Amino acid sequence: MSRAKGPAVGIDLGTTYSCVGLCQHGKVEIIANDQGNRTTPSYVAFTDTERLVGEPARSQATLNPQNTIFDAKRLIGRIFEDPVVQLDMRHWPFQVVNDNGKLKVQVSFKGKEKAFYPQEISAIVLTKMKQTAEAYLGCPITQAVITVPAYFNDSQRQSTIDAGTIAGLHVLKILNEPTAAAIAYGLEASSRGERKHNILIFDLGGGTFDVSILRVDDGIFEVKATAGDTHLGGEDFDSRLVDHLVREFRRKHKEDVRQDKKSMQRLRAACERAKRTLSSGTTAGISIDSLYKGVDFHTTVSRARFEDLCADLFQATLKPLCKALQDANMSKDQIHDIVLVGGSTRIPKVQMLLQEFFNGQELSKNINPDEAVAYGAAVQAAILTGNRSQGFQSMLLLDVTPLSLGIDTVDGVMATVVKRNSPIPTKETMDFTTAEDDQDTVVFEVYEGERPLSKNNHFLGTFILSGLPPARRGEPIIKVSFSIDANNILTVSARDTDTGNTNQITITDTRGRLDREEVERMVREAEECRAQDVAQEEKIEAMNSLESCALHLKRAAEGGQALDIQAKKRVLEMCKEATSWLEGNQTAEKEEYEARRRELEETWDSVLSNLSQGQGTGLAPYHPAISGRDRNRTKVS
Ligand code: AMP
Repeated sequence: MSRAKGPAVGIDLGTTYSCVGLCQHGKVEIIANDQGNRTTPSYVAFTDTERLVGEPARSQATLNPQNTIFDAKRLIGRIFEDPVVQLDMRHWPFQVVNDNGKLKVQVSFKGKEKAFYPQEISAIVLTKMKQTAEAYLGCPITQAVITVPAYFNDSQRQSTIDAGTIAGLHVLKILNEPTAAAIAYGLEASSRGERKHNILIFDLGGGTFDVSILRVDDGIFEVKATAGDTHLGGEDFDSRLVDHLVREFRRKHKEDVRQDKKSMQRLRAACERAKRTLSSGTTAGISIDSLYKGVDFHTTVSRARFEDLCADLFQATLKPLCKALQDANMSKDQIHDIVLVGGSTRIPKVQMLLQEFFNGQELSKNINPDEAVAYGAAVQAAILTGNRSQGFQSMLLLDVTPLSLGIDTVDGVMATVVKRNSPIPTKETMDFTTAEDDQDTVVFEVYEGERPLSKNNHFLGTFILSGLPPARRGEPIIKVSFSIDANNILTVSARDTDTGNTNQITITDTRGRLDREEVERMVREAEECRAQDVAQEEKIEAMNSLESCALHLKRAAEGGQALDIQAKKRVLEMCKEATSWLEGNQTAEKEEYEARRRELEETWDSVLSNLSQGQGTGLAPYHPAISGRDRNRTKVS
């Protein structure tokens, strides 16, 4: 596994926020982005002139709701008809479209309609995280460990790998988020001198909820069980507050805020802020000027009201908790540590319910809940690149299958070949036979899930084994093997023991996945986009440089005692003309800005050379002093 390809990062690609970490010399750094923040909103926005990622994208969301994409993680690896997608679409201000069963988000970008796969949106966020690490390290980053919720199925995992590929990253491993958090925590635990213990990871983030039970034994992690809900998190709590306030607005003002996407976006942002406030205070004020049809909205929400609105959602976290304990075959008192991960675990009521469930046991909060996953992913990345150092010399990581895997049988029942929570990588074999006399072909349908009937589980793919010799039903023995690699990617093979006939396929869930060509096209497009980004940056640099030159020379001419009236007038007029031209020409070509700047500089030089050798005048030729690049930042956002 070890490769000499430079450092590898760990990326927590979150529903609402993403975080990147790097492990060097046994120490993990969580890397701050260009705005100085250690987590970056998983937001991408498209405007008439540019593409924005992270904070600049989120901060303009209320002004440009239709073209600001978030929650790509809720879409990735899913099909348009997926009930989760259909339900979510009601809350999103952006448009999700059906492209032959595959879903895309449709936006207006540079004046044209453009549709993107969720993988492309996630790739843009990943590129931002990659660039954040590159800016910190000063060298290219090409490898990463990316985390996903434990409950992500094969299609969602594969699509996340595709997103990494599009972003120019070789994905070393797709790591379960709770497992990553456990690595972070386990390191801490071993540094405290503890050797054996069971950890429960309670991860309640923006969009997903995961519970994992891990056993740590002398530096070795074993995932005993995972359970969760792919659709429970902070955004659902935000939605409850939004619904409540929409009703309040209707009662007070007889108007329906839902009619306006921008108003809804503003309301949602205010609710998210209020929710955070309620984690430390008992009331939160909401004040939005001119929310809808010019009506201001001022109100307060109490913590008690918030808890009441979300009571069933908070309560819903307990069910997966019971399931995980049951699967791990452990009782509550066998859990030594209860670890909180994800921003939503800051909600006091959530903590209270959890603590009550564990009969008052203290919760471990000493890992920063927003960073634990990236921390663990960074450690794993270091291990996979052979960068083992003292802290995790002997650490091994056993991961498990999140769902059972099996084959549909003739009566519609799923024959489970690999049980959920089996450690991976794994290979399991089971014997199958024919259902009819002289059956020469067998169709295998592969499913994942826990329901007894295949039709209630998630269909992964189908393949055929043909050429069976005539035989009575039940006589042929067909050995079916399921093998799962370290990334949880599944290959199924079937072999007829009589003839030796074999057929093997790697299951490709075509409904949610992209084919290779599409991924390659997106890689190309992402590269083209990078070139466009650079061109845009250079253009802004040229624009700023012209503006800066005009301002500088204006100031120099105004203060230049040695200049005669004519020369001063000439320079000031040129500066004025350049400034007003700039105001009306924000989208001109880079060359035009450069030409105009050169013209200004030449005029200034000729004015100077007409003076008595410029001696003692205090005037100097113009040299751009401020790097355009430094200035561009404020202009872009
Ligand atoms: P994560 O995906 O782990 O970064 O969690 C993000 C979610 O945590 C978002 O829904 C945030 O609104 C939520 N969150 C962050 N801080 C707090 C807080 N202090 N109280 C309640 N929720 C929070």
